[in-house]
Amino acid sequence: MSYRIGQGIDFHQLAEGRELWLGGVLIPHSKGAVGHSDADVLLHAICDAMLGALCLGDIGLHFPDTDMAYKGIDSKILLQRTYELVRSKGYGLVNIDSTLLLQAPKIKPYITQMQVAMAQILDMSVDDISIKATTTEHLSFIGREEGVVATANVLLQKQ
Ligand code: MG
Repeated sequence: MSYRIGQGIDFHQLAEGRELWLGGVLIPHSKGAVGHSDADVLLHAICDAMLGALCLGDIGLHFPDTDMAYKGIDSKILLQRTYELVRSKGYGLVNIDSTLLLQAPKIKPYITQMQVAMAQILDMSVDDISIKATTTEHLSFIGREEGVVATANVLLQKQ
């Protein structure tokens, strides 16, 4: 069996007047993430991890933020297209392990919804999608609620 491992990381600023999309779920909050797309930092990190596993470049290469086609786009569409690339190379996903770093709001109540949203797109079981969250104990730009970060690792298996 042939396996490939990948990792991804993404950062977005937080600002008032924006929606907060994380893991494909709209989360009620006073601030949202700033970006060309819906700025879903977790889905972006997972896309980059999948692309990295297959040495296919990064999300900015495939979905440039200078392209108006991606203005305000739902990142679940980017996840779907990235997954189609993975499938076109003959691979499927074994598991995802990810971490969100943000000070607020608490993410735990939304994790199941995020797992379900991703599982449907990626042909996976929710039991194979790990989503963890941590604050930074009020340290740094994350602790000041100026930004949000996500990291992700994926394992792919040749089908
Ligand atoms: Mg991003």
